[in-house]
Amino acid sequence: PMQTLIKASPRETLDLSGAEDPGKQLTYSPCEGLIHKYELGLLYVAATCSAHCRFCYREELIGRKEIVREDGTTAPKGLAQLGEISRYIKEHNRLVAGNGGRHPETGRERLREILMSGGDPMVLGNKNIAAWLAGLAEAGIENIRIGTKELAFYPERFDPTFFAMLDAFHRAYPEVNLRMMVHFNHPDEFLRKAPDGSYIDNPKGGLEWIPATRRAVKELARRDWISI
Ligand code: SF4
Repeated sequence: PMQTLIKASPRETLDLSGAEDPGKQLTYSPCEGLIHKYELGLLYVAATCSAHCRFCYREELIGRKEIVREDGTTAPKGLAQLGEISRYIKEHNRLVAGNGGRHPETGRERLREILMSGGDPMVLGNKNIAAWLAGLAEAGIENIRIGTKELAFYPERFDPTFFAMLDAFHRAYPEVNLRMMVHFNHPDEFLRKAPDGSYIDNPKGGLEWIPATRRAVKELARRDWISI
């Protein structure tokens, strides 16, 4: 059954009807690659993942599908650009501060939190992730979330170089919190199995994890400024 996560089924092609933008996300997109609907902003920073889940509703981004926008134009969903996003956040927060805590037109509060998503931001290089983290912190963002399924698909991505980058970011911006929004669909994605298919008891309690996943989670958990 785990294969059905990423293995295409011919049944997918039997009915191609449906909305191109089912979440009407583009209605809340003040600039390319940003969805600003609530106090949390969502950024599309990557257009790919280590594997493509068949159920993913970001298919339109990953597949570069053409979307009809509110102004009637048609274009694929694009990725966020740091400069433009930074300018938008600063201007939004400036207007909010000058209007007693609410944006004069939309009524939204200060933009404090950003979810970096995609695609999977963890497929980006460390330099690129560092640029986003620092750029968002400089723009006044206090909480940054990284949405990722990489702990399931490629836990080795959480290597010492990645953590060195995170620690350098924390030294530069100690007031900014990081939240890793990890995505698992099934325990088989992080638990070891015996040849007979059963999970393996851990003598210290609980069940045995896949070592690389366990290492990555431990490294994240021992940093008190990161929550998982
Ligand atoms: S990892 Fe997340 S963004 Fe990527 S295909 Fe799967 S559900 Fe979609």
